[in-house]
Amino acid sequence: SLSDRLGGVFDRLRGRGALTEADVRTAMREVRIALLEADVALPVAREFVDRITEQAVGAQVLRSITPGQQVVKIVHDGLVEMLGSDTSELDIDVTPPAVVMLVGLQGSGKTTTTAKLAKLLAGKQRKKVLMASLDVNRPAAQEQLAVLGTQIDVATLPIVQGQQPVDIARRALQSAKLQGYDVVMLDTAGRLHVDQALMDEMKAVADIATPNEILLVVDSLTGQDAVIVARNFTDQVPLTGVILTRMDGDARGGAALSMRAVTGKPIKFAGMGEKLDALEPFHPKRVAGRILGMGDVVSLVERAAESIQVEDAEKMASRLAKGQFDMNDLRQQLAQMSKMGGLGALAGMMPGMKKAQAAMAQSGVDDRILIRMDAIIGSMTLKERLKPELLNAKRKIRVAKGSGVTVQDVNKLLKMHQEMQSAMKKLKKMGGLKGMMAMLG
Ligand code: GDP
Ligand code: MG
Repeated sequence: SLSDRLGGVFDRLRGRGALTEADVRTAMREVRIALLEADVALPVAREFVDRITEQAVGAQVLRSITPGQQVVKIVHDGLVEMLGSDTSELDIDVTPPAVVMLVGLQGSGKTTTTAKLAKLLAGKQRKKVLMASLDVNRPAAQEQLAVLGTQIDVATLPIVQGQQPVDIARRALQSAKLQGYDVVMLDTAGRLHVDQALMDEMKAVADIATPNEILLVVDSLTGQDAVIVARNFTDQVPLTGVILTRMDGDARGGAALSMRAVTGKPIKFAGMGEKLDALEPFHPKRVAGRILGMGDVVSLVERAAESIQVEDAEKMASRLAKGQFDMNDLRQQLAQMSKMGGLGALAGMMPGMKKAQAAMAQSGVDDRILIRMDAIIGSMTLKERLKPELLNAKRKIRVAKGSGVTVQDVNKLLKMHQEMQSAMKKLKKMGGLKGMMAMLG
């Protein structure tokens, strides 16, 4: 594993202030081999290593960890970043019916995954789902989906013999509109290899169905070949995401990194078995751990990451313990959040933060607006920052003018602060910031 490989390198790295280029290059040679062993496609591994090398050279080694740990942390973070911090939610929050189309090679798991996703949407999310098989190539493919539909109690479009995929798609959309379905799932035909007839068929269906999601289903065991498949589909069909199947049989996880790099699209789900509930949201951290060589290295990284955050967190925690969360805390928290992958992303992960997240979404908070919020807080007096309730109408006008925003913007920020303050209080009850960080893993 990577940890073994890096063992010797680590020893040589011990006890220096900053990582030198020579040290990093030696370490990265081992990282590159580990990636290839994990079945990451060669060009992807190469590009990753180049990027990480740039980041790592000159990095200060933190007091509490060894240089080797620092390197592992940088590699781990790089993997997670590349694998994507995107949520695995499907983008189906549209005027119904939303259309979800699954594409991929024959045997990649499209039909099974169609049923798995339908089960998820119909169950937990209480959507009214209609599934349709557009696979007219394989005998009994449409029946296969109908059988799965019965098992999970989800409707399938009645089979009409002799129809072409585009006609079936059209009929599915019509039925969905007439019968008030929320989601239409289009399970398409595959081929053993990518060919132009298949691509043309996919394009034609996508043209008339204008799917909200076009998901490429890839068998994670196909390794290096998967990249060729992904590149072909990416070039010809407007993909929105990837689903990796057979992750239950793949201990290496390299295909995930390749898929993400080649398609540029988020990996939304992972198939974990043949059963229809064996579908999980994709966990970048878990897969990064697999690629790094599992177990020891991952916990090492986590300990390293903790030691980096603990100092900041402890200061904040002691304030929260006293029930304090003023504008200065908000400002610090916002800066930290943007570092950790954006406001919405972090709030979504935190227990008790759903409301704050909703408030953020409502106020259109994104990382650009962060700068503006920082300016608003900057325009408050020190007293106001400590006691935001001092901000009456007159003071708000002054702050708005000072930061070049509207009073409404100031109000939105105050509302968000309130939501966060109450979330922080709840958090305190749940074991504080340390508990939260443990959950964030
Ligand atoms: P399609 O040709 O793309 O529609 O592929 P199917 O959905 O028919 O799946 C082909 C085979 O792969 C079936 O035997 C499935 O049970 C199996 N399969 C699909 N997804 C998974 C998965 O995540 N894990 C495992 N172990 N098997 C899977
Ligand atoms: Mg099929």
